[in-house]
Amino acid sequence: MIDLHSHSTISDGLLTPSGLVQHAHSKGIKVLALTDHDDVEGLKEAASEANLLGLHLVHGVEISVTWKRNTIHIVGLNVDSQNKILLQGLSSIREGRFERAKQMAHSLDQIGIKGSLEGALKYAKSGILGRTHFARFLVETGHAKDVKTVFKNYLVKGRPGFIEHTWTSLENALSWIHGSGGIAAIAHPARYDLGKNNLLAFLNEFKELGGQGIEVISGSHTTEDSLKFARIAEEFEFLASTGSDYHGPGISYREMGSLPKIPETCIPIWKSWNEVNALLN
Ligand code: AMP
Ligand code: MN
Ligand code: MN
Ligand code: MN
Repeated sequence: MIDLHSHSTISDGLLTPSGLVQHAHSKGIKVLALTDHDDVEGLKEAASEANLLGLHLVHGVEISVTWKRNTIHIVGLNVDSQNKILLQGLSSIREGRFERAKQMAHSLDQIGIKGSLEGALKYAKSGILGRTHFARFLVETGHAKDVKTVFKNYLVKGRPGFIEHTWTSLENALSWIHGSGGIAAIAHPARYDLGKNNLLAFLNEFKELGGQGIEVISGSHTTEDSLKFARIAEEFEFLASTGSDYHGPGISYREMGSLPKIPETCIPIWKSWNEVNALLN
């Protein structure tokens, strides 16, 4: 009934903000966070659709961060999407995305795949341009059978189209989220290849910077992943979040409304969100 991680056409999802809210509603979701990558532009439309359908919309964002040369995603929940510093920060990330996209296109060009910048831009409905847009172009032009397959052969480390990129710092991301009244959660923690020591160092640094949440349940987690991060949440006294990371039909890890429950040992991130608790009980 609660899903705190999803994407619309404002970033790399397939559904418009209102289409996404309608979809969530049809799957029985009562509380939805729209968390587009590095952009909060879709929240207004999503909120008015949610209002019509009687669904509670949590204003969110998923910020791309570089920590010790690793890309990490931090979800901000209950952010004020009008906050100037947040908006300015996100805008600077989007500019960096465009520069990276030009380099990605150049890299694909060198193996004979022409026109990928224009091709990817066709799929980008708004200001963010990312690997998913390139992936859709590569499927369209017959270089892979689906988006998933693209991420095996292209756009990932050691493959054509991959460009190492420096996103914003963890410190910036957390200061923007906290400065706009939000709470931060580490997105899909099982997806990072940090190694044991760096994972611990990362968790400690996140906590020291005031980070409070972690996605224990994620569309891209296995049951074992969820148990591991439930234990970590307990140990670090993090609040547990849950989200499908839904991107639209055919390109998502999980359908909305199909996630397992947060383990009993965890404290849900919405524990003190009265309006949300009233809807869920
Ligand atoms: P970017 O932020 O532009 O580097 O793109 C990251 C996005 O690519 C993620 O948010 C996913 O939407 C998508 N992505 C990354 N890896 C995969 C994968 N293995 N399968 C499907 N989508 C992926
Ligand atoms: Mn994405
Ligand atoms: Mn992510
Ligand atoms: Mn996401």
